[in-house]
Amino acid sequence: MANRDLIYSDMVKYLGVLLDSKLTFGPHIREKVKKVIRLLYYFKTSVGQLWGPSPYLTRWVLTGIVLPKITYGAMVRANRATNYKKHLNRVQRLGLLAMAHVRRSTPTAGLEVILGVMPLDLHTQCVVALAVYRVWGRNQSRWDGIERGHLQGHLFWDNQLLEQVDMGDCANSNKRAIQGLFHDRWREHWKHHTTCRQTKYWIDDPGSIGDATACLDRLTLSTVLRALTGHNYLNYHHHITGSISKQSCRFCREGREEFIHLACECPALAMECLGSVRGLWLSRNPPDLYGLVRLTKVNRIGKALERRAE
Ligand SMILES: [Zn+2]
Repeated sequence: MANRDLIYSDMVKYLGVLLDSKLTFGPHIREKVKKVIRLLYYFKTSVGQLWGPSPYLTRWVLTGIVLPKITYGAMVRANRATNYKKHLNRVQRLGLLAMAHVRRSTPTAGLEVILGVMPLDLHTQCVVALAVYRVWGRNQSRWDGIERGHLQGHLFWDNQLLEQVDMGDCANSNKRAIQGLFHDRWREHWKHHTTCRQTKYWIDDPGSIGDATACLDRLTLSTVLRALTGHNYLNYHHHITGSISKQSCRFCREGREEFIHLACECPALAMECLGSVRGLWLSRNPPDLYGLVRLTKVNRIGKALERRAE
């Protein structure tokens, strides 16, 4: 062209989406993840362990700035979201860790459930389903994808939605139905999650205390996360990490020292626990957050959660 040879390229950027020759969208997702992680690191360096923007604002940064950047153009590549789950989880984890100070080993799935942020692969699919619904009936020619005879484009998502959501006339109720559908999938994933035993003990329905936990201050939220995930400074967790050999409760010397024991079973702390939750055992599924916060402020339990006793 214009007396110059055109150089063959495997990739081209069109409307902000990096298209590769095989439409794997791997380069696009990797580039987006790289940019977003850089952004999150800038944000994280401006936040201390106990000071910085409130968890509510930090969650807004994650859900209002970071996730829309990642889900841009998801309409054409959402069927690939699960292929790049590891990359997407990395972004999600960085964002969640900026909300509070927790131990490094704290699992991402537990943090998502407590803080009410849907796993990124499911969130991407939900965004796409809502976009499909928005153009429902308007787009006459639908892309059926270029992938070995399987539906990959709009028709794939149309079929998925047709099977599971009754597309009626009421826009708001249909939107809620689609969001509910993906929340059900999240609940199903959580139900079959093989780890996060202590978080599963407290919470059956993911996200049920998300809005309430986001309103706590950083210090309180950090303690609540340590209590609910089990990744704290109690003897049982130290025993698992191999730093000490004993896992028995330092107060009653009977049970295994974990938060479930301290909150519900420990005879040595029973009177203090009862006082803190006004005569009731701490409820679960979902936990009474007010009672939980008060319980973590009981002197002996709070100190035990914060640091290992000598
Ligand atoms: Zn005990």
